[in-house]
Amino acid sequence: MSVVVQKFGGSSVANAERVKAAARRAIRAKQAGKQVVVVVSARGDTTDDLIELAREISEHPPAREMDMLLATGEQISIALMAMAINELGEQAISFTGVQIGIRTDSTHTKARIREISTERMRQALDEGRIVIVAGFQGVDEKYDITTLGRGGSDTTAVALAAALKLASTKATLFSGDANNVRETVECEIYTDVDGIYSTDPRLVPEARKIDSISYDEMLELASMGAGVMHSRSIEFAKKYDVPIMVRSSFSDAEGTWIVPEAAWMKDVVVCGAAIAKDEVRIFLDSVPDQPGTSHRIFAAIAEKNIAVDMIAQSAGSGGKAAIGFTVLRNDLNLTLATLKPLADELGAIIRPAEDVSKVSIVGTGMRTHTGVAEKMFAALAAEAINIRMITTGDIKISVLVDRNDGGKALKAVHHAFGLQTPRLGAGVSGGSDTGFKDRPLLRGGDAAHDLAVATQRLSGMEDIVISGVQLNNDYGRITVSDLPDVPGNCSKVFQAVATSGIMVDTIVQNLTGPNRAELSFTVPRSDLRRALIRTQDVIREINPQGKAAGESDIAVLYVYGVGMRTHTGVARKMFGALAEKGINITMITTSEVCVSVVVESARGNDALDCLKKAFSV
Ligand code: ASP
Ligand code: MG
Repeated sequence: MSVVVQKFGGSSVANAERVKAAARRAIRAKQAGKQVVVVVSARGDTTDDLIELAREISEHPPAREMDMLLATGEQISIALMAMAINELGEQAISFTGVQIGIRTDSTHTKARIREISTERMRQALDEGRIVIVAGFQGVDEKYDITTLGRGGSDTTAVALAAALKLASTKATLFSGDANNVRETVECEIYTDVDGIYSTDPRLVPEARKIDSISYDEMLELASMGAGVMHSRSIEFAKKYDVPIMVRSSFSDAEGTWIVPEAAWMKDVVVCGAAIAKDEVRIFLDSVPDQPGTSHRIFAAIAEKNIAVDMIAQSAGSGGKAAIGFTVLRNDLNLTLATLKPLADELGAIIRPAEDVSKVSIVGTGMRTHTGVAEKMFAALAAEAINIRMITTGDIKISVLVDRNDGGKALKAVHHAFGLQTPRLGAGVSGGSDTGFKDRPLLRGGDAAHDLAVATQRLSGMEDIVISGVQLNNDYGRITVSDLPDVPGNCSKVFQAVATSGIMVDTIVQNLTGPNRAELSFTVPRSDLRRALIRTQDVIREINPQGKAAGESDIAVLYVYGVGMRTHTGVARKMFGALAEKGINITMITTSEVCVSVVVESARGNDALDCLKKAFSV
């Protein structure tokens, strides 16, 4: 039998009418022959109101008591939902996180899920009941109530779907019966918007609804303004292969499917654009370019549980490198306090932090299409917007601009890629391979086995999974130093490179001083000479003193995984492993799903080995 987990957010259960509407939806799914689990959030602004209540009593309430308080919001919702379903003539039973057995660690107010027991859920489902579960909460080893962090009900919903799926995969695998009917498990997120948009429609009214998007694309977008979903819930979905549909609780229209990558997605160069305005850029200058330096810096920050978002370390010269990175504005003071003693010791200079907006474009097709970066930079140049930092990931390009330029930058980029018009994945069907409907929902055979084994190795369901480490020895790098920092310069460089059809892989741009930028990028080694000549031609025009140099002896290493952003320690572990082997890192870039570094080519294989060991892959 197939199972559907339906999650209703705060606005979807805000009053009696809406609770009843949600109840009717759950009943419809049941009557269509599915087993139904409903996850609910606290009603309306209840969680905010509870936080306010606590504030009236205490400036710094103990985190344990905060969780005791916050968990009550969801408890109200589950009881009302169960009553509404009973009232409509179906059987329902409500459970808190404790009752259903959602085990978490003890990090109050931002706990992570360790395991979920499916026994009680299964039993109630098999008895023909609709199971109602409180979102956002769990219980630790000591039976203390925990919560998962704001917006955590999405994570509860996907985690329950994952747990049910895992249990059924194991049952199928171990039954040894090939004809055993496999159960499908999917997750529906009901919210007050009708899906995921190409960007926030409040900022760009022409934004378009996306029909279908991959987990990785969604992860890259969710971490930024496209805040419709909790990032951790997508990590769960990807790790356990749970298809999700985000849709409106006020209509029956199809929303957005979040699914595994499908073949047609390779033609989607850009599926969405996003903006984040809550970050600040920290910049360290004159950092000794020696093995272990990045490790020390990011280890100190990770130690304080501060999540670093963009990191760009540029190649540097004269034995000095420059490292720029962003953290949430709330973490600024703690980050600076952590860095100060370290910077003093290293002789590095901390430049004043800058208010920035991060604008990113995301799309699976970026892996294989040329000229994407160039198009983005050209759109920004046309609006005279200055780029303060660039990093690129596998399927994402992010730029930092002045905070005030953010909105304008987002519009320019959205338009440049035609995201307002129908296209594959948004208004035009992706053909027969649309990813979700045609594929068997529960993969059998090897894939199911691998999943079961990989997840069994984890001590906690939410632990980070590193899926692979790769070495690429076929790239060379071009570094442009002393590029005058004015709008349009980056665009000129990449236009020159792109018009020669050369695929640019990783790009890092750092502002290395007042009015001075440094730009590094990697290209296939076989194109290095050509790319260098084109770059030098452009640089001569921009600044006769500017230098562009090419290096062919580099190796690029990529670490791929799930949960890279929400777990603070990945970069630390990666840099630590390299430092221990005395391998110097000359360039770093990060995204949600990939961290990559450049090292000298002679050490490429050593680096690969030690990273594989560090991440046990
Ligand atoms: N009620 C919690 C919050 O507002 C959890 C959720 O809504 O997902 O953060
Ligand atoms: Mg909420």
